[in-house]
Amino acid sequence: MAIGSETRVSRRGLVLILSSPSGAGKTTLTRALAQQPEWGLELSVSVTTRARRPSEIDGQHYRFIDRETFDALRERDDMLEWAEVHGNFYGTPCRPVERALAAGRDMIFDIDYQGTRQVRAKLRDDVVTIFILPPSMAELRRRLERRAEDSAETIERRLRNARTEIERWSEYDYVLINDDLDRSFKTLEAILTAERLRRQRQVGLDSFVAGLLAEAPAG
Ligand code: 5GP
Repeated sequence: MAIGSETRVSRRGLVLILSSPSGAGKTTLTRALAQQPEWGLELSVSVTTRARRPSEIDGQHYRFIDRETFDALRERDDMLEWAEVHGNFYGTPCRPVERALAAGRDMIFDIDYQGTRQVRAKLRDDVVTIFILPPSMAELRRRLERRAEDSAETIERRLRNARTEIERWSEYDYVLINDDLDRSFKTLEAILTAERLRRQRQVGLDSFVAGLLAEAPAG
């Protein structure tokens, strides 16, 4: 994870959370960023009681589990957060997050506003949140219909819920209107770069600067 001063100074792991109404492009952006090895981001794979879409792979997009297993995880306190979204249950398993942060690795999450609140309450300063807005409601509908993996009923339900989700935009650190995927991706990279360079995140910066100042004056 060499970026900026990180070649000399280590850094606490951070948690990058992307939220948006269904169809705004958040999943595409999250996965695109996680797939670039140079960013060293680990994708949090959620558990869900939702049925698998034809294009999804168990263990890669989600871990698809039944309601009983979900309740058992919740009761054992094995989830960092969980929520009911569009009539299904979703949750983030604790362990991978604990492991990544302890090792100073960053994680990226694709979760809704209810989960974001819970993660922020637990991990506080290690959390960076980004809300993604669609350019218009008409475009959101087009994107949901183009995906063609959900039934007409599911699409209508997601569009109704989109309004409630959009109303949470002001709880986020950054807000991005996704009218162009490439541009949004570059914006995300810029946010990540800036957040990694935050003074508070860089461990050992004071001793690095002390070393600099102890050097004989140049020239
Ligand atoms: P989808 O069914 O389209 O994959 O996801 C529906 C919604 O659930 C999206 O807004 C997504 O961000 C959210 N979601 C996915 N995984 C989780 C999770 O682990 N926790 C929470 N709170 N929301 C999630």
